[in-house]
Amino acid sequence: MIHEILPVGPLQCNCSVFGDEETREGLVVDPGDEIGRVLQIVAKHGLTVKAIVVTHAHIDHIGGAQKLKQATGAPVYMNANDAQLQKMMDVQASWLGMRAPEPVSIDVSAEETASLVIGATEFQVLHTPGHTPGSISLWIPSERKVVAGDTLFRDSIGRTDLPGGDGRQILRSIHDKLLPLPGDTAVIPGHGETTTIAREKEYNYFLQGL
Ligand SMILES: [Zn+2]
Repeated sequence: MIHEILPVGPLQCNCSVFGDEETREGLVVDPGDEIGRVLQIVAKHGLTVKAIVVTHAHIDHIGGAQKLKQATGAPVYMNANDAQLQKMMDVQASWLGMRAPEPVSIDVSAEETASLVIGATEFQVLHTPGHTPGSISLWIPSERKVVAGDTLFRDSIGRTDLPGGDGRQILRSIHDKLLPLPGDTAVIPGHGETTTIAREKEYNYFLQGL
């Protein structure tokens, strides 16, 4: 499967572009900003974007969703538990000194156990609240990859001090949903370097004793 990771915007959110080599169907995760560059990758691979998935309603992950939706016509998936946060886009923009992006309407709530199929590849939604109430991770069993949003990072976990954050819940989500994945699963976090489940189990200070 085609997979390109593009850090976008001032907070360098990892936007992922996935594509099926055969059917040329595509899926984009976290189009936070720089939609022109995202569309260049989509065009380079000749993809038709079938779905736009937002791991949570923070501006750096969702900010470009409306532009990408307009350009591709693809539906936007986000967990409904982040609807409140999504309504606070003006407030979020003011935290960063940015202008609020165009609001996007969510087409489908990305619920636990929902799955999306792109070509022959299944993307399973894991509800991993804690960073935000509606945070999700996308588990791709055939690729042994999980797109973890801001739930799990290399050597760290998502912050839980913003509205809707819950420090105990994020640890429970990681323990219950992410750590049971195979050790060699590649973790694509919302920011920074890719890691693996095994590496984080062993070295991530925040997960010791989980
Ligand atoms: Zn976030």
